[in-house]
Amino acid sequence: MSPKVTKICCIGAGYVGGPTCAVIALKCPHIKVTIVDLNKARIDAWNSPDFKLPIYEPGLDEVVRQARGRNLFFSTDVDKAIEEAELIFVSVNTPTKKSGVRYVERATRNIANIATSSKIVVEKSTVPCRTAESMRTILEANSKPNCRFDILSNPEFLAEGTAIQDLFKPDRVLIGSLQTPEGIRACEALSEVYANWVPKDRILTVGLWSSELSKLAANAMLAQRISSINALSAICESTGANIDEVAHAIGYDTRIGPKFLKASVGFGGSCFQKDILNLVYLSESCHLPEVAAYWRQVVEMNEYQKRRFSKRVVDTLFNTITGKRIAVLGFAFKADTGDTRESAAITLIKDFLSERALVNVFDPQVEHSQIWMDLQEASPLVPLDHIKKHVTIASSALEACKGVDAIVIATEWKEFKELDWEQLYKTMNKPAFLFDGRLLVDAQKLTQIGFKLIGTAIAASL
Ligand code: NAD
Repeated sequence: MSPKVTKICCIGAGYVGGPTCAVIALKCPHIKVTIVDLNKARIDAWNSPDFKLPIYEPGLDEVVRQARGRNLFFSTDVDKAIEEAELIFVSVNTPTKKSGVRYVERATRNIANIATSSKIVVEKSTVPCRTAESMRTILEANSKPNCRFDILSNPEFLAEGTAIQDLFKPDRVLIGSLQTPEGIRACEALSEVYANWVPKDRILTVGLWSSELSKLAANAMLAQRISSINALSAICESTGANIDEVAHAIGYDTRIGPKFLKASVGFGGSCFQKDILNLVYLSESCHLPEVAAYWRQVVEMNEYQKRRFSKRVVDTLFNTITGKRIAVLGFAFKADTGDTRESAAITLIKDFLSERALVNVFDPQVEHSQIWMDLQEASPLVPLDHIKKHVTIASSALEACKGVDAIVIATEWKEFKELDWEQLYKTMNKPAFLFDGRLLVDAQKLTQIGFKLIGTAIAASL
């Protein structure tokens, strides 16, 4: 019989660990869930009395309000939570490059050093294939007598912005284990946790390495679709075809389907690029250079799309943006999140500043301090004072667009679609250029108002 899980610990209180384990706590009131992190400020925010949580995610505060203090706890006492849990999720960050698993390694050592009883250790972080093997070696070399560790892979497929919805009704929950009696028992124990709200036919159990690879593969395939449609958008601009019409037409094919076929200024976020690069390194270490080159091209196409977009802005504004003011609407990497990791807006603003433009930026969720930090990181050799002289953070879209030569939509926030565009138009310099990097606005309506609209979809009508 599989052991019943009554106490769970999650190492890492970030975009994945926080929402995932908060939902487990909500759906499993009989399980004590403790989410731990070394970052005290983050834990303080999770515990804040007014629910000012460290991440913005629709529906998240409601989940935390219901479960926090009942069976959901946030703490910096990592060791205590490890010691008392039967099942431990490792949900730490795994940055790009081969050294990306160093935090997973550190957390694993911590588990081995602290645990005095047997544990199920679950990789929740996205990791290169066969990371579980390294974890096993570390655990076995450092563990105390009579402690056994079963390692599972349980990658997370939530998307930021829809995390709670994705966790409530996942397309699937994937659990990978070794095909030994102990591995299968551990897998059953975790399946039982999810079975509290996920239909059994959506809980897929596979081998460990298949599970690890499936997460990288899923992200690579999603990013590949975006790069494919973006590559087609470049052809549209040269030929007069309309990328929205092309996407609509091909999406009707049931083998292709309509999702993830929106041309844009490119994908961002902390996952797509790093996970594809992980696949590239994996291919290289398997001596498969052609496979590595294939996946690398998906990332290169994304970089190309961002460069192409910036160049289009400069070309359209009569080949120079020096001294011109540009409003960038949106700084988060996508709508409904405050996450700015690898956001396209950062690259665009960096490009505009290097061409000596002045930039006004507005995002409804991203903290000002985060914007300054990201812009400084993007241009480490430029003093922050200099950046601040050329960038203004506005407190509304209207304020950001006042007196500018061009507007760039970098994030698909719904509220940008519903702006008072007639009013905005009046306050802008003319011609009023609008570069829709997310194909968000009603092109026909805005063109009628007088905007010169430049977005990949309407190239044909220019
Ligand atoms: P994050 O940076 O938001 O959170 C990770 C947290 O782990 C940080 O707060 C960090 O302080 C903490 N941490 C690191 N080492 C620790 C240790 N030894 N002990 C305690 N805390 C420690 O990262 P994230 O976005 O939540 O991503 C986590 C993992 O999930 C990554 O592997 C990522 O690829 C994967 N993933 C992310 C998403 C997403 O949309 N963000 C989706 C699916 C999977």
